[in-house]
Amino acid sequence: MSTFAPPVQRLVTELSKLPGVGNRTAQRLAFHILRASNDDALALADAIREVKEKIGLCEVCSNLADEPRCRICQDERRDRGLICVVEEPSDVIPIERTHEYHGVYHVLGGALSPIDGVEPEDLKIEELYKRLAGAGATGEGAVREVVLATNPTTTGEATALHIAEELRSRVPALTVTRLASGLPVGADLEYADEVTLGKALAGRRSM
Ligand SMILES: [Zn+2]
Repeated sequence: MSTFAPPVQRLVTELSKLPGVGNRTAQRLAFHILRASNDDALALADAIREVKEKIGLCEVCSNLADEPRCRICQDERRDRGLICVVEEPSDVIPIERTHEYHGVYHVLGGALSPIDGVEPEDLKIEELYKRLAGAGATGEGAVREVVLATNPTTTGEATALHIAEELRSRVPALTVTRLASGLPVGADLEYADEVTLGKALAGRRSM
């Protein structure tokens, strides 16, 4: 039996689903929300509702977007001949922060993990191949290089290898690179500092 009234318990339960938030933190946040003014508490609820209603995936790269195309795909100054493949939209942010990268992105929506039942068709991998085919093999608009910037984890490495092999047979002229080592092994890109990540980008090597 919960010691909280059901509405409070519901809030604690929902908050405890957030990453890094245990039951005790969830309770503390719930009591903070209960003490807050109606305006502040409802602003939080509205902000959550608004992102879920207005934010979707970019039709080109699957990054988060509040329009059919994300801001990066809309930017004319971006080099469309260079595509950086990442696992999640949250991985775009640290790469942007390095100011080393001026190409476009392709967000997979996760990493291959047969144990968890994540197969190639569960990710936006086919969309990457279609995108490369649509851009043409040579000439104006052709993609010169794909940088595989999946996380330096077991699943991230497996995903990079899988895509690199496929690309080698599908688009032989394409340069396929991987971020240089130096990134903390087993960690997510999101947690890499911009200097380390900038160096990893600058020192990317062919696969
Ligand atoms: Zn986009």
